[in-house]
Amino acid sequence: MLLPPSLDELIDDNHSVRVVNQVIDHIDIDPLIKKFKGGGTSSYHPRLMLKVLIYGYLTNQYSSRKIEDALHQNIHFMWLSGMSYPDHNTINRFRSERLKGVLKQVFSQVVLLLVEAGHVSLKEAAYLDGTKIEANANRYTFVWGRSIKTNRGKIKRQLKELWAYAESIAKEELENNAPDDFEQIDAEKVRQTIDKIDKALSGKEVDKKKKQKLNYARKNWPKNLDKYDEQEKQMGDRNSISKTDLDATFMRMKEDHMLNGQLKPAYNWQISTQDQFILGYTVHQTTTDTITLPAHMESLEQTLGQMPETLVADAGYGSEENYEYLEDNEVEAFVKYNYFHIEQSKKWKEDPRRLENLHYNEQLDCFYCPMGQAMSFVGESTQTTKNGYKQLKRHYQAQNCNGCPMRGVCHKGEMNRIIEVNPHLMRYKAIIRERLNSKRGKEYRSQRPVDVEAVFGIIKSNHNFRRFMLRGMEKVEIEAGLLSLAHNIRKMVN
Ligand code: SF4
Repeated sequence: MLLPPSLDELIDDNHSVRVVNQVIDHIDIDPLIKKFKGGGTSSYHPRLMLKVLIYGYLTNQYSSRKIEDALHQNIHFMWLSGMSYPDHNTINRFRSERLKGVLKQVFSQVVLLLVEAGHVSLKEAAYLDGTKIEANANRYTFVWGRSIKTNRGKIKRQLKELWAYAESIAKEELENNAPDDFEQIDAEKVRQTIDKIDKALSGKEVDKKKKQKLNYARKNWPKNLDKYDEQEKQMGDRNSISKTDLDATFMRMKEDHMLNGQLKPAYNWQISTQDQFILGYTVHQTTTDTITLPAHMESLEQTLGQMPETLVADAGYGSEENYEYLEDNEVEAFVKYNYFHIEQSKKWKEDPRRLENLHYNEQLDCFYCPMGQAMSFVGESTQTTKNGYKQLKRHYQAQNCNGCPMRGVCHKGEMNRIIEVNPHLMRYKAIIRERLNSKRGKEYRSQRPVDVEAVFGIIKSNHNFRRFMLRGMEKVEIEAGLLSLAHNIRKMVN
């Protein structure tokens, strides 16, 4: 080599690093720039930092230290950064602080570029699915909502017992001095009650074990109750948290064959895709997919500027509440419901006991049971879902099941058979059933696993992303965004 080559000469014309550079150069990063205050020491340009991070996620280098090393060793990183060398602290600070609240806007611009380039279309269907990704937290650091309730219950019971014991030997001192009740307790109330017991028992002969219990209670119970209050506040309506990442929830990692069935602190990552491009992403703390749909659709609307016209998803999302939400927002739903496949079987269709196979008489508002007996309306009930949605159920009862030859097969209860009908859901199911069995529905059903599930496969298996690097909901959302951006650019390169 007579003359040293430039880095640019060493990089292929259509290398992914050039695409990252081009895409990020194309988008407006004003919201990100506004997050930098003027003054201070010279820093690296946010556009440069963004390029480096996205390229890191695109090449399976998720740790800031690995990216720092790559910036010194890898010509693609060197070319991208223009031989600037931000250290791992700078990279990490940029990722966890600067990108907060602005990465979705960057992601949205990249998706709109994809629309402009004709890679995706807002007129075509979006495919929705979710996966659980392990949080950056120790798996043995769980706190269960149920245990907090049990421990609180134990303290109440033991405090009541201590009071009863104290009363038995110092009745006069404690008379008219009892706490209002032992059901509503907090640290202060426990402290005061123990003080009263102490005072009443001073100078009296006290059982050694009770004395030990009182000492233990004075030292630990108020402290524990404060801790339980704090943990319950963090938990909200979840049933568990992890001590090392308070936003992570314990979830069963059933999708991952390596972790089959294990409970681990994790987040539920939801994505919508089209032709394997990610159109939108959200991160949730709940393990069930059903209740994540409205929040995900709203985020998708923000990213795309409108909701997709058609949504395809599996039975995990098929609920009355979601069907109504999609109908109200004029999204054509191709979303399965539980038993959709079993319902298609000959055995199910020919089973006269199934609610779906009972004949309904609209004029008389009654169903006919397999023996032809009218089942008339006996009452209504409502059920509220986790999202606060009210489901109305109508109940119908057979007149007389005594001596019926089908008794035992039809139903096993002692009373006459009662069926529970949700007419609103039944209407949706009929529409969805017809849609899913249409030619378009069948195409969507076979495309769904190839489209959205494959994306999770690519990210988790091919690119080995199985655990978030950062802790806390906001930071995990940033990582989900970086993964989605990197995936879309990788797909563009392909
Ligand atoms: S058991 Fe009752 S509901 Fe069932 S077929 Fe007989 S009469 Fe009808």
